[in-house]
Amino acid sequence: MESNILKRLREWFKKNAAMLPWRPTDLDAPRDPYAVWISETMLQQTQVATVRDYYIKWMKRFPDIETLAKANEEEVFRYWQGLGYYSRARNILRTAKTVCEQAVRQAHRPATMPRTRKELEALPGIGAYTAGAILSLAYHQREAILDGNLVRIFARFYALDFLPTDKASAGKNTTGKNEGCAEAYWKYAREVADSPKAYMHNEALMELGRTVCKSKNPECANCPLSGGCRAFAEGRTGEFPPKRKSAQREWRGTALVVESADGKLLAVSAGQPFLAGQATLPHFEHSRNATAGIPAEAEAYFNADNVVHTRECGSFRHNITVHKIECRVLHVKLSTKASKCVASSGKKIDPQFNATWVKKEDAAKAFANSFSLKALKNVF
Ligand code: SF4
Repeated sequence: MESNILKRLREWFKKNAAMLPWRPTDLDAPRDPYAVWISETMLQQTQVATVRDYYIKWMKRFPDIETLAKANEEEVFRYWQGLGYYSRARNILRTAKTVCEQAVRQAHRPATMPRTRKELEALPGIGAYTAGAILSLAYHQREAILDGNLVRIFARFYALDFLPTDKASAGKNTTGKNEGCAEAYWKYAREVADSPKAYMHNEALMELGRTVCKSKNPECANCPLSGGCRAFAEGRTGEFPPKRKSAQREWRGTALVVESADGKLLAVSAGQPFLAGQATLPHFEHSRNATAGIPAEAEAYFNADNVVHTRECGSFRHNITVHKIECRVLHVKLSTKASKCVASSGKKIDPQFNATWVKKEDAAKAFANSFSLKALKNVF
């Protein structure tokens, strides 16, 4: 983008930047790298309006990386609950612990986020986008970012008829040179960031994509880039970026709420289709035409001879990563106490499920993921 367009972009941003909890009033002030990391990670796949409250609560409880590194996964998940994509929360905690351990080893206290792309991208959950955001917004380095907002803007501004995820053969830049699709987009992102004001260009483009160059009905009349935008000049804004095939996959299954005679609920944290490593209700996939009653897969978790009653408790919809889930809920009440429960084989519940029992009154805390909480809501 030419310098006069970037100047207009900066002026637009100074007038229009929204007040956000992670954004200081002085837009030229370097940011706290920890705050940038947390806010940008929360903002991946999640709307600003949703993130706002989560961010405030998070920073109150974990104001810096050292406080976070001392927390346990269960608590971190609780503060993440509702944001989805729990692997992000798990990676945040792993990264906090790694950075703090390195700081102790190297006697660099207090611990802080690394200052190079290579070091940042070596940390769990930090990819090219987050690394670029930390380096540019917090450390004011000339580092690029590329997220969905920037992709949409570049696609329209340069009339790119391919996406970064397309096969390399499609990735031609405006000079017709084929560079691979992702690289063609990154090249434009690096151009924008090749400035002492990289931090502002990056953030302004994210904001512009969110508020003006929106997916539907871009407000070109209010856009500081309109003077150089090819899609606008050619009246083709609706054509860019090109549509991609939906990556969503449908998943139908059953979640089991298995309740022992002494009022405990079965939790598993392994061997499940979703939510690995977290306490969740046992769940499994079944076909669209699954019949009512106790499915065979369920008997891995209890002995059918000990069932006092089963109750179909409706179903719920939920999304996890690319999966569009439709899940029925089956409540199974047992005649045996938790300590005596076995699978239908007569043996202990398979250790691969890492099964535990939690008191019913502790369920909301123990099952710190929306999938399980929705299922429980159908029962109790
Ligand atoms: S002129 Fe329109 S299409 Fe082009 S960048 Fe601005 S809002 Fe997007």
